Amino acid sequence: MSASSKYFFVLFACVVSLTNCYVSKDPQRAEIKKLQKGIIKDDSSFVYQLPYEAGESHLLVQGYFSRYSHRNRAALDFKMKRGTKICAVRTGVVIRVKEDGDRGGWNRKYRSSGNMIVIQHEDSSRAGYWHLQLNGALVNVGDTVQQGQVIGLSGKTGYTLFPHLHFISWKSSRGQWGPVATRFQTDKGILYLRPFRNYRNSY
Ligand SMILES: [Zn+2]
Repeated sequence: MSASSKYFFVLFACVVSLTNCYVSKDPQRAEIKKLQKGIIKDDSSFVYQLPYEAGESHLLVQGYFSRYSHRNRAALDFKMKRGTKICAVRTGVVIRVKEDGDRGGWNRKYRSSGNMIVIQHEDSSRAGYWHLQLNGALVNVGDTVQQGQVIGLSGKTGYTLFPHLHFISWKSSRGQWGPVATRFQTDKGILYLRPFRNYRNSY
């Protein structure tokens, strides 16, 4: 990641924030902030592996509840070139695959063209990996995948301005599915990720 492209994204996000003063009132947002800052300690939850190969580093351009397309979502956007290998963050079973989308751009009309993989974990939580390239799924529904296994190739399909991986994790509580923040093993320790930082997979 070059310094100039990092600054481009920081600048871009600032401009978007200025034009968009909405802040999510979701109580989960405040809790995630405390987890990110270490105000709430979490020593017991599962430690996820970053969704790319060991040794690689990528810039997180949007974090949980970022003011942009994530304002109501506990989701993560990792900037990466098309064709970057995507790895499973946790062992599980593939429950959904779409890889026939071949269009993408900054327009809602592209939303249904986004290629993705959804994996269910042993605790019944799920992880979704979005915007994969055409035919970019390297697994099929029903496959068991191991944590760290290469499952797909990143791209720019669906509703997105630039090539990146949109990652989201959900769990169900009392029959309602909702997004959850998860901690990751990084070169900076085990953390809840924050935007505009590079994180290396040091698993
Ligand atoms: Zn996203």
